[in-house]
Amino acid sequence: MRIVMLGAPGSGKGTQAQRLQKDFGFPQVSTGDLLRRAVADQTPLGLQAKAVMDAGNLVSDDIVLGMIEERIAQPDAARGFILDGYPRNSKQAQDLEAALRRRGWKIDAAVLMDVPFDILMKRLTGRRTCSRTGQVLNIYFSPPAELEACKRAGGELLQRADDNETTIGNRLHVYEGQTAPLITHYRELGLLETVGATGEVEDVYGRLKAALGLQKGKKPAPTPQNKNVGTRKKKAKKKTARPARSNAPRAVKKKAKRSTPKKAHKKTKRAAKKKGRARANKR
Ligand code: ADP
Repeated sequence: MRIVMLGAPGSGKGTQAQRLQKDFGFPQVSTGDLLRRAVADQTPLGLQAKAVMDAGNLVSDDIVLGMIEERIAQPDAARGFILDGYPRNSKQAQDLEAALRRRGWKIDAAVLMDVPFDILMKRLTGRRTCSRTGQVLNIYFSPPAELEACKRAGGELLQRADDNETTIGNRLHVYEGQTAPLITHYRELGLLETVGATGEVEDVYGRLKAALGLQKGKKPAPTPQNKNVGTRKKKAKKKTARPARSNAPRAVKKKAKRSTPKKAHKKTKRAAKKKGRARANKR
């Protein structure tokens, strides 16, 4: 399968793409990771990209297209891949479609990872990486014991260079202006699937797999000419009335539903679950 992951910075595209890679073998192709590697290796491209990335702006379309073309030409991408952070504007979407067309390929699905704005901000401003273990943590959401464990192991909680408040604001602004319009683009192509991306990573992953029609252990056969595009198109038609972005209205609806009187035992069970998952629901 060839999948495009859409969503604001902090929506969890990378985390979920890694899960899909692990379970189904489609490589995660992240332009952010490829660029960060180039910066770390101080390649000419990396040196050029660093200042742009630190400001939260987009690196030139030609540079990222070159990186993508090189990456999808690798043998491990022959039976599919997950694009994480690409395309990020209309020009890149066109470039991608042309690059795929040259290979006789198409996108099978575009998944929007949907997260309300306030949660995105906390995820981004609170994100830290343990210098010792490499574990990605969050000062607002991670259990204090995990944060402590990093320090006890002699690690430091490091912040990504572009995770400071000013740059985050700009990244979200760039997303709204340039990337969010792609949601309409993929909806019109009948490829869009929207996944509520708040809560436990595992629950989000379940919803993502369901949206893609994937089951663990069942490696989908290569789909040279997109067997499932037709099905997705039919589904997409039904969805056209749905708002383009933000699952805020859906989240509210969910809460309202929960408070309606239901069978007593269900309520008790839910209350217990709710307590345990209060932290997760804020993620
Ligand atoms: P996030 O989506 O969390 O902001 P990424 O790791 O995807 O982070 O990207 C980090 C930075 O890398 C972006 O802010 C941008 O500067 C650059 N970048 C990543 N992907 C692209 C792309 N497709 N086009 C242009 N720049 C990109």
